[in-house]
Amino acid sequence: MPNDPEIIRAAIRKAHELGADVAGAVAAKRLVDCPSAVAEKHPGSQENRGTCIVLGLSHDPEHPELDLWEPGRGTPGDRILGNTGKNLARWLQEEYGVRARLIPYRIEDGGIYLKDAACMAGIGRMGRNNLVLVPGYGPKVRFRAVWADLECPEEPSPEGDIPCAGCEGYCTRACPMDAFPTGRFSRERCLARMNADRTSGRRRIDHCRACELACPAGG
Ligand code: SF4
Ligand code: SF4
Repeated sequence: MPNDPEIIRAAIRKAHELGADVAGAVAAKRLVDCPSAVAEKHPGSQENRGTCIVLGLSHDPEHPELDLWEPGRGTPGDRILGNTGKNLARWLQEEYGVRARLIPYRIEDGGIYLKDAACMAGIGRMGRNNLVLVPGYGPKVRFRAVWADLECPEEPSPEGDIPCAGCEGYCTRACPMDAFPTGRFSRERCLARMNADRTSGRRRIDHCRACELACPAGG
């Protein structure tokens, strides 16, 4: 029987087979007081044991339909990620007898701060636009995660070049809400735009992606 780190590596390979473009793992206990949890004063994980396997799906602007949000249904891209996560959890149970489950998307439903988790799992680095810049994809990636009853090796978050170093800040200039007034992201200003979108009466909503689509990272 393989040990837990071997199963985690196998699960990351399996996640790619099941359709994830990127995947990585982080110990759940590291997320409890991750930066967003501290900032929001809300625990960043309901679990302080086990492993969160983070899955990412590229949202190419050529397929804007992946990101169209509907009340009660979320987006098609998130449904694809959710199915990938459920299939991965089932595979872990069947292949290794490991308890695993898809983590809810929303933090208030027991979710985790997915962008923090993606960075801590080594998938990418946080950009000035408050999005994870993923090598090869830039900020055009959405995330979900699976919790698995596996011991994750403690690894420090990856160091490396700051992805925005030297960039003129196309993201902040593109924002229609001036949500980076001091250079730092203002959640309130961005949320005001999202809330206006959601009450617009449109059936399927194409949320603002200006700070994402303006970013040259990832090619
Ligand atoms: S999503 Fe739109 S409103 Fe929100 S920060 Fe980005 S550009 Fe600004
Ligand atoms: S546009 Fe430039 S500053 Fe903004 S996130 Fe992308 S690389 Fe960073």
